[in-house]
Amino acid sequence: MTSEISNYIRRHEAAIAPLYKDYSQKLWDLSLSGSEEREKALVEAKERYLKVYNNSEEFRQIRQWKSLHVQTDPIEARQLKLIHDAFVPHQIKEDVLRDIVRRETEIENFFNTFRANFEGSEASDNQLRDVLRNENDITRRRASWEASKQIGREVASQLLELIAIRNREARNLGYPDYYSMMFELQELDEKWVFSLFERLEHLSEPAFSEMKAELDATLKEKYRVTDRENYPWLYSDPFFQEFPAAGASESLDEIFKDPDIEALTRAHYHSIGLDIEDLLRRADLYEREGKSQHAFCLDVDHEGDIRVLCNIRKNERWMSTMLHEFGHAVYDKYNDRSLPFSLRTPAHILTTEAIAMLNGRMSKDPDWLMKIGGLSEGDAKRVGASALKTLRSEMLIFLRWAITLVRFERELYRNSGQNLNSLWWKYVERVQKVTPPSNRDQPDWASKIHLASSPVYYQNYVLGELMASQLLWHIHGKVVRSGSYAGNPEVGQYLVENVFKPGARYDWNTLLKKATGEELNPEHFVRQFVDNN
Ligand SMILES: [Zn+2]
Repeated sequence: MTSEISNYIRRHEAAIAPLYKDYSQKLWDLSLSGSEEREKALVEAKERYLKVYNNSEEFRQIRQWKSLHVQTDPIEARQLKLIHDAFVPHQIKEDVLRDIVRRETEIENFFNTFRANFEGSEASDNQLRDVLRNENDITRRRASWEASKQIGREVASQLLELIAIRNREARNLGYPDYYSMMFELQELDEKWVFSLFERLEHLSEPAFSEMKAELDATLKEKYRVTDRENYPWLYSDPFFQEFPAAGASESLDEIFKDPDIEALTRAHYHSIGLDIEDLLRRADLYEREGKSQHAFCLDVDHEGDIRVLCNIRKNERWMSTMLHEFGHAVYDKYNDRSLPFSLRTPAHILTTEAIAMLNGRMSKDPDWLMKIGGLSEGDAKRVGASALKTLRSEMLIFLRWAITLVRFERELYRNSGQNLNSLWWKYVERVQKVTPPSNRDQPDWASKIHLASSPVYYQNYVLGELMASQLLWHIHGKVVRSGSYAGNPEVGQYLVENVFKPGARYDWNTLLKKATGEELNPEHFVRQFVDNN
């Protein structure tokens, strides 16, 4: 029996590895330059890849092996578990699977190509955001915010249809709904995560309220607003998920106006003992016509072909984004080549996000600004204090926003027949403390692309931030034995040995316990960003 299982795993991995690589390459090609031809090539590669997981006979066999609890070695048991989990959501009729892929692609394309009507002409997402970032006239800000919600009306019914299909298929597979299925397949305990979020909401309430009152006052003065309400168009993005730069006392962008962002990224990782020279060579870092406007890291083959896409501009946001994306990249690069294919990946989405976030935060760290950013001690102190305050505000704002979205998304799958428009604003008002526009009854929630294109994903960002704080605490206390991070090669060595090399051989919380001595503990984040004044 065990040799039968071993043989199967080997065969499966031999089949899936080239299909995965082909799919990744097509994805990369399309991101560099969009064309119908490349889009078609990607869809076909994705179908070939997913079709492997659609095989019901193979799945029945895997399930049987799993239920027998055959004694296999721990590596093979883990492989079998992960292969099983990859099969589950694809155990649906082939035409239904194709229908879902088609619907998802359609909505995603709609988001990519939609142009809102603003001031009588078409406006892109970036144009609307520019208004929210820079405009002082409140009437115009409001118009831009309202325009950013137009897409919600257009996609809401399509999205609800897709959710109904996802739920129907999940129920056929024996789960209460799609949401619960995805939590289980992501090895997340739904009850635990939601009680954690409740606790975080409670703990962050005073700090968030205080920070936000100050921010609101600054913004209202700037925009000459006298009402007591905090309408959503006060903020610099459509969902109040970011800290409005207009609320900061010191602009960090000044610092990154001249230096070479790529060189600073190299210097940062070099200073913690990690070499990214090969990763930089394979990366595509600058803006170009037709290229994807986002930033991401793609592990093409789990064998060292790792590619980062960015669109560097000389400002703090791109400095932070570069540090973030190369955090994903070093995790992938320093994997253990002796592990089998399916384990040669991060333990979880949240663990790779944690590494990316841990490094991405550094562009606001006073010590980093001096050591890597090249600021004098005096400047680093002055700017650093404001930078730390900004980072803390960012964390609080993002936390409250993510809690709002995660809560709402669960309701969306549990009971999509309820009044979602008012539920959305109920959560936004309570958790984010943003005043709903009066008499508004629109599907504003549907204008958030993640609900369509990255379902049941957002909780991982919060868990990633919590883990980043826990790792930093451990690194300060046990690895570097001081309050610094950059400039200490032992940091990289610690991460390689304790986080990167284990790959996916343990579930994420076991990995974290092995790496830091305790399971995920939100107190480290709370101490760093909530209590700390
Ligand atoms: Zn990331």
